[in-house]
Amino acid sequence: MSKIIVTGGCGYIGSHTCIALLAQGHEVVVFDDLSNATKESIDRIEKIAGKRPELCIVDLKNKNATSAAFEAHKEALAVIHFAAYKAVKESVDHPLQYYENNFFSLINTLTAQQKLGINNFIFSSSATVYGMPETCPVTEKSPVSTPFSPYGNTKKIAEEILKDHTAANLDFSVISLRYFNPIGAHESGEIGELPNGIPNNLMPYITQTAAGIREKLMVFGNDYPTKDGTAIRDYIHVMDLAEAHVVAVNRLVDQKQEQNFEIYNLGTGTGYSVLEVITAFETQNNLSINYEITARRDGDVPVVFASTELASKKLGWTAKRDLNSMVKSAWNWEKNYRKND
Ligand code: UDP
Repeated sequence: MSKIIVTGGCGYIGSHTCIALLAQGHEVVVFDDLSNATKESIDRIEKIAGKRPELCIVDLKNKNATSAAFEAHKEALAVIHFAAYKAVKESVDHPLQYYENNFFSLINTLTAQQKLGINNFIFSSSATVYGMPETCPVTEKSPVSTPFSPYGNTKKIAEEILKDHTAANLDFSVISLRYFNPIGAHESGEIGELPNGIPNNLMPYITQTAAGIREKLMVFGNDYPTKDGTAIRDYIHVMDLAEAHVVAVNRLVDQKQEQNFEIYNLGTGTGYSVLEVITAFETQNNLSINYEITARRDGDVPVVFASTELASKKLGWTAKRDLNSMVKSAWNWEKNYRKND
């Protein structure tokens, strides 16, 4: 059994990944400052997985605290680093907070790992590093361009930091996973996406509208050059994403990597429009969503979907769950979470 440290393990993707790791027999330690999640995640993970991850509440911006937390778990074999701020709009309003949090926590984590010889690192990256891709599907060789927000820029620069760090330390291995659009929830309905305040992303906005918390969903633009005029994204079930992290961590722990800095897209390879997502949600859950077409949102790209070839070839991983399963699980989670309101 190998011990894996999951930073940000109480959050949305982190908590689903903890479940996937526990299901594969890994021991899990969560490092989280609970700034955007609660301890309850750990109870919920235990309820689903039947095993409890250890929680270490630590602010990774603090170098000494980070070093002490790692020292207490120096036998860990790998780190999966989710801990970061992730709200696009908030990052535009508060760029310094984003740069401070996302870089200090990354650098302190890498420094603590280096001191202890914990040489495996999975990074939570994003398709946002491609900016406005010129062609689809987007491959890992597609040019990285200027992201539209400080949040996106933290992902791009973090990958550059990791590239330099792995070039200087050949015994240190990194896999950076570029997520397309993660949605959905664990089938139990015990854990799922819980954004702070008004959601920016499509799926939590849809589920909160269905739950009556938001009056109306605004569909940003129907004049894109797509079949129904709304923008197209590659939505991926969060459990598929979680399982990809386990595959990636096993690749590093088993020393199967071909290079010490590898990058993979995580998507399904299929794009759906905003209206297709709404229709699937309505049909699968037998309800109707109040929505209105409005102007395009600044910085939105018409069409993005992934090439999944590299992940399939090198990791042996492909997404298994379809859009229906994503929209059903998302609503199951929201309903379950609100049942006592
Ligand atoms: N979207 C929308 N209304 C919303 C939120 C999102 O129409 O309230 C659209 C958005 O314009 C994009 C897609 O849904 O085309 C996915 O947006 P999201 O913010 O979830 O992810 P992004 O791809 O922007 O990272």
